[in-house]
Amino acid sequence: MKTKKQKISKSQYLTGIQCPKALWYYRYRRDLASEISESQQFIFDIGHEVGELAQKHFKGGIEIKEEYYEIDKAIKSTKRAVRQGAKIIFEATASSRDGVYSRIDILKKVRGSDRWDMIEVKSSTGIKEYHIDDMAVQKYAFTNAGYKIRKSILMHLNKHYERFGELDLKELFDLEDCTNLVNNKMEEVKKNVKDLIKVVNKRKEPAVDIGNHCTSPFSCDYMSHCWAHIPDYSVYDIFSGKKLNDLLSENILNISDIPNNFKATSRQQIEINSQKNKRIYKDKKKIKEFLNSLKYPLYYLDYETINPAIPLFDNTSPYQQIPFQFSLHVQKKKDGELKHVEFLHTGQDDPRPALIESLLKNCGNKGSVVVYNKGFESRINYMLGQDFPRFIDKLKEINNRMIDIMTPFKTRFLYHPKMEGSASLKNVLPAFVPQMSYDKLEIQDGGTASILYLSCIKNIVSEEDKNKIYNDLSDYCKQDTLAEVKLLEVLYKNG
Ligand code: SF4
Repeated sequence: MKTKKQKISKSQYLTGIQCPKALWYYRYRRDLASEISESQQFIFDIGHEVGELAQKHFKGGIEIKEEYYEIDKAIKSTKRAVRQGAKIIFEATASSRDGVYSRIDILKKVRGSDRWDMIEVKSSTGIKEYHIDDMAVQKYAFTNAGYKIRKSILMHLNKHYERFGELDLKELFDLEDCTNLVNNKMEEVKKNVKDLIKVVNKRKEPAVDIGNHCTSPFSCDYMSHCWAHIPDYSVYDIFSGKKLNDLLSENILNISDIPNNFKATSRQQIEINSQKNKRIYKDKKKIKEFLNSLKYPLYYLDYETINPAIPLFDNTSPYQQIPFQFSLHVQKKKDGELKHVEFLHTGQDDPRPALIESLLKNCGNKGSVVVYNKGFESRINYMLGQDFPRFIDKLKEINNRMIDIMTPFKTRFLYHPKMEGSASLKNVLPAFVPQMSYDKLEIQDGGTASILYLSCIKNIVSEEDKNKIYNDLSDYCKQDTLAEVKLLEVLYKNG
């Protein structure tokens, strides 16, 4: 390993303050990192999309075009742009003398002054603590390199913006002055830089135990390595805080090793007993009460949605959930025949008007509307009613008829050891109906469904691929409502 003086980038600094071991791994053992997932890549893509729009908001800017690894060149290009009188510089780069370098999304000259405002663009809809760390290390690098910084500004999406016609970039973004918050961090940054430079100069990884910092503020890339000794379902899934620490201090990781006299809530006790005895837990009385609340005919409903950061349609806001598909199984009586109806919008316009019409046409006006996770589906209907007021009463009626089939599993009226502490449909279904696993489907989760649908409406896939995606979406959504049907059968058998 090299012993020359090391430098760290802004993102390495941020990794290092979350966990110095993760920084060390990033520098010397990147082979231990998990591959970037489709959903992580999607988040990066959103960041780029938002960043490009933010640049359009600042007309006449000069971009420092060097690649992220061409640091020295980028620093020189930035200095050249400054000398040539640039008023706005995108991706300006600087390095502090003690070894931290950073880019700034937008560096804007204060009119009639030799000072600059730093503008950091984020795709979030508000300020997070780690944004302040992010801007503080930027300011540190630039100030230390001789730039006079007046303000540190965070430019993020405005969650109250509603699109009508062309995007209004002035309204789409909020600019928040974080100068004081950033200034308060400067001493901390100085100390952190010193500590982290020491970390990357070491031959051996720092000793850091796993803990909450592995997932906060970001899920660490090295969890599959550091957490390899932790069973898939462990005491971490049941306990937290002092109780978790008590078990860890006794080297107890497996749920089956938890002492019988260890204090737990009744819900935790159900999970522990079920895991130890490999037995299903049931509360017949409560299951029966739940079943008695159902009113036939039943309408098993499930939505798929997108929530684009940049609103695609009129009357929508950043990250608003937009349903584009539903699956509906209709059953007139207990164990009766199933009729399947589906809606999938394949145009590039707003899917909601046609979706609402189809939903209202097929959902009848009496009988329970069965969903898995009522909070989500009822919220979608609520938002549809707000945006399309002529349907508000009918959508409210559907919400009034809604019954959440997740409830008996979430409240542990019926619990299978294979649920492993989760009432997610993806855990409950294979536990009780193993022949219906999602593994055989091309699309296996809502996140993927959303990413693929977006790729269709943004026209970045071929017509052939689109047709395949639509078929896969259809199979996936149908499986969700069929799962509700099968889980109701499970509840009848156990109630
Ligand atoms: S998994 Fe946890 S302990 Fe390991 S490097 Fe990441 S944050 Fe550090």
